[in-house]
Parts: sequence; C-alpha cells; structure tokens
Amino acid sequence: ITVTDLVDESYKRINEVDGKVQAFLTLNEDKARDYAKQLDDAIGNRSEYGLLFGMPIGVKDNIVTKDLRTTCSSKILENFDPIYHATVAQRLNEAEAVTIGKLNMDEFAMGSSTENSGFQLTKNPWNLETVPGGSSGGSAATVAAGEVPFSLGSDTGGSIRQPAAFCGVVGLKPTYGRVSRFGLVAFASSLDQIGPITRNVEDNAYLLQTIAGVDENDSTSANVEVPDFLSALTGDVKGLKIAVPKEYLGEGVSEESKQSVLAALKVLEGLGATWEEVSLPHSKYALATYYLLSSSEASANLSRFDGIRYGYRTDNAENLIDLYKQTRSEGFGNEVKRRIMLGTFALSSGYYDAYYKKAQKVRTLIKKDFEDVFEKYDVIIGPTTPTPAFKIGEKTDDPLTMYANDILTIPVNLAGVPGISIPCGLSNGLPLGLQIIGKHFDESTIYRVAHAFE
Ligand code: GLN
Repeated sequence: ITVTDLVDESYKRINEVDGKVQAFLTLNEDKARDYAKQLDDAIGNRSEYGLLFGMPIGVKDNIVTKDLRTTCSSKILENFDPIYHATVAQRLNEAEAVTIGKLNMDEFAMGSSTENSGFQLTKNPWNLETVPGGSSGGSAATVAAGEVPFSLGSDTGGSIRQPAAFCGVVGLKPTYGRVSRFGLVAFASSLDQIGPITRNVEDNAYLLQTIAGVDENDSTSANVEVPDFLSALTGDVKGLKIAVPKEYLGEGVSEESKQSVLAALKVLEGLGATWEEVSLPHSKYALATYYLLSSSEASANLSRFDGIRYGYRTDNAENLIDLYKQTRSEGFGNEVKRRIMLGTFALSSGYYDAYYKKAQKVRTLIKKDFEDVFEKYDVIIGPTTPTPAFKIGEKTDDPLTMYANDILTIPVNLAGVPGISIPCGLSNGLPLGLQIIGKHFDESTIYRVAHAFE
C-alpha cells in the first residue's frame, strides 16, 4: 500500500459521504496528493520514517495552517490564509502526516453542537438527524465517518471529549501546557488545549506523541518530559485506584449513561482495579465559573478582529469607529456576540470584583477538589456527557440547556488536568462516552486505563 493509496482512499470516502456529513470546510487535495507522491517516491531510499508517515489527518479550522484557509467557521475570517503554521501543524509535517483538509466547528469554538458554524451544518454520522457535538464537531464526525483516521480538535470546556462521545470515537484533552497553543486561534487562553481525535486509543497515543512538548513560541507550554505514551498501552490496570465522583452520576445524568459507566467499572474491577465513590464538592459552580472566565478571556482575545488586521472588512463604514463596529456586527455570529458582551460586562470596572475575581477564586477551589482526590486515587472516572447526541435544532433556542452539556467536562479544563473520552456502549443506537481523568501530565495512566477496554 502506498501513501497515494491512503490519500486516494480518504478523498474517495469524502466524495462519497461528506455531502451528507459536511465535516470539511476546506480540502487540501492538490497539495496532499503532491506530498503523497513525494513520500512514495522516496520510500526505499531512506532508513527512518516520521511517526505518522503517510497518515491522512484532518485539522480543526481554528488551528492555523500556512497557505491553507483558516476560518474558525466565522464570516469574519472567511478568506483568511495564514502566513505561518501552528506549532502542531509544523509537528504534523515533521512526522510526515498528510493534511487532508480543515474541519468545521462552532464559530471560534463557542458551542456544543457545531450548529454555531457560520458556514455549514455538520451531521452526526451515526444518525444524520442528530448533532455531532461541538465545538470540534467536524473533527469527531470525520473520524467516525471513516474519512480520515486522525484529526486534531481543541478543547476549552469539553470541545474534544463531548463530540468524541457523541460520535463514538476517542478524544483526549491533554494537560494544560502539554501541547503548544501557538497558532491556535485563542478563545480562552487559560483553558484552551489542542488534542487528538482517533478511532482507537493506540492511534490517539501516536498523535499525542507527535504534537506534545514544550515550544519556545508558547510560554504556557510546559517544559516537562514527554514520556513514550505507547509504552503505557499494556492493558495492565491491576492495583489501580479509581475515584467516581458522586456529582458525575447525579441529577441530570441519564440512567443509560450511569449504567454504562457502572458496566465499565465492572470490567476494570475484573482486571484488578478498585473503585470508590468520592466527592468534587465545587462541581456545581463549574458552569457559572467557566462561562464567566471563558467569556472574559474571549472578549479580550477577540478584540483583534477589527476589520483591519485579518479577514473580513465591511463595505459600509463612514469612519474608523464605524468600521470596527460594522465589521464586527456583520462578521461575528450571535453566540460569539453573546460571549463578548458577557465577558466585557464581567471585566468592566464596578463588576470585575463581583464576577471575574470571584470566578477566579472558585476556579482555585475546583482545582483543589481534584488535587484532594488525586492524593488517594490514580484516575477519576465518570460519563463524558449527561446524555447521548441530541437532535439538530433541539437546543439552539436555549443557550443555558446547551451550556449544561459540558457540565462533566468543564471542571477538567478549570483544573488543567487531562481527560479522555472513549466509546462506552450505545443508548438508542447512539454512542455514549466514558471519561477518564488523570493527574497533571499523567496522560500515560489515562491511556493505560483506556487501552484496557480495547
Ligand atoms: N461548549 C463549551 C463552550 O461553548 C466548550 C467549548 C470548547 O471547549 N471550545 O464554551
């Protein structure tokens, strides 16, 4: 099999199914084929190959790719061609992966269903009437639909794990700082992380291995050793101590989600692990804390889209202030505007202490909840989401119900720890996800547990 065969197969599948699934915003077909040929021509003349040699990959559209349109699914960046590669894109090149195209998402990664895209509606391949989850809905749907075996997503409050759960694939949010954010269009800089979405745990470890590690272009990337994640895939969980937060099996979580988690715990018990119920008492404040902090950071980060520096510029401006206002009014969608308004309000003088500062304090308490549990346990396990994928349009009129979807994933971002979602049974023919949360920089243990199910 040649790299050209793999790349052909990927575009063939995209031609067959993407009309329905609509995961891709931009294809990189000519360049991908040229690159495949170049890799094929050199086969045999070399002794070493990149870690992802010849592997087709799709990239979420908030990760900048040199000379390949990057829109964040926003009209305001509709025709934006970056002049540099994000560090992760650079690392994919070094690993000799082949970039197939860019994937649909909620505009600027704000959402839980990919319905906030400014361009198209991605469908869940399991049932085209349901959402793929979000904001990395394109990244999860494309892997589930068999278009590409690997994709990158980003996760600020659940945007890798929730769509992975809805689409029945494996998605990891690494520890904050594990992967460089250089070239990831910022939503909430203290929470954002790029991570791998794949069909199985082994592929996931390969992709994390490729993108992880300190980067001089991102001062928040951590200078800690990147272990060999593949060597963790032993299937051995004997003696492992698992914590199951009672808040994660409580109110609002469907009976089927609960049962699937309990069944998974049984499997792990059978392999020699033990589990106990614990409490993360501040979980109930996580949603409010997250929406204040993430919107505050977003309001600052998105101020750079002014009609001057990037992408879209209005035609109807009388003067400079008008140009900013019109460009932003016409370019941003409703959800993005809602977040900018909320964040601007929370950061304004007179309200700052009551909202932003208070939320920062609660964030510290939420982080401490996790630290306390991790003193005694190796991993935390629960469902990824309260329910399986919902119907398209079902929650678009009610932002608060939409926000509640991330109730089990958001605390993980606030604490900065890593978490994975792996497939864990079906409910009415739709996938459910099991979430495994680890200690800071301990993705290896997460992979070890996740791999025990394969
Ligand atoms: N759904 C959450 C939000 O809308 C999380 C998004 C994300 O992780 N990027 O903010």
